[in-house]
Amino acid sequence: MRAGKFCPVCEAPVKGRSDKRFCSTKCKSMHQYETRQKKEAFYIKVDRQLKINRKVLKGFNKKGLSTLRKSDLYKEGFDPNFFTHYWKNKKGNVYLFVYEYGFLDLSKDGKDKYLLVTWQEYMNK
Ligand SMILES: [Zn+2]
Repeated sequence: MRAGKFCPVCEAPVKGRSDKRFCSTKCKSMHQYETRQKKEAFYIKVDRQLKINRKVLKGFNKKGLSTLRKSDLYKEGFDPNFFTHYWKNKKGNVYLFVYEYGFLDLSKDGKDKYLLVTWQEYMNK
């Protein structure tokens, strides 16, 4: 009995050339899309978290509050492990940024808080 080939997407028998893997171009492109999704899953996850972080920082920054309890940001989905870059001031404090919105961990000062800042022109130096 010849091992029948079946489409990995819809499981229909594959007819035609022996190197043909999919029953149709529709299934082929669906498979390519899924493969790409899997490969890019990490990128997509990071990208999504960065967008959430930016939204959270932007939202709290708008309210004009400079220091916030960490838990208030976490509640909104903020994850401090995801940021785009950093800026170190002369005192050696490292501000982490998510695009133009930055945060400084104040736990060094014994506070369970973040100081929120926005990117400034002088930080480019
Ligand atoms: Zn198919």
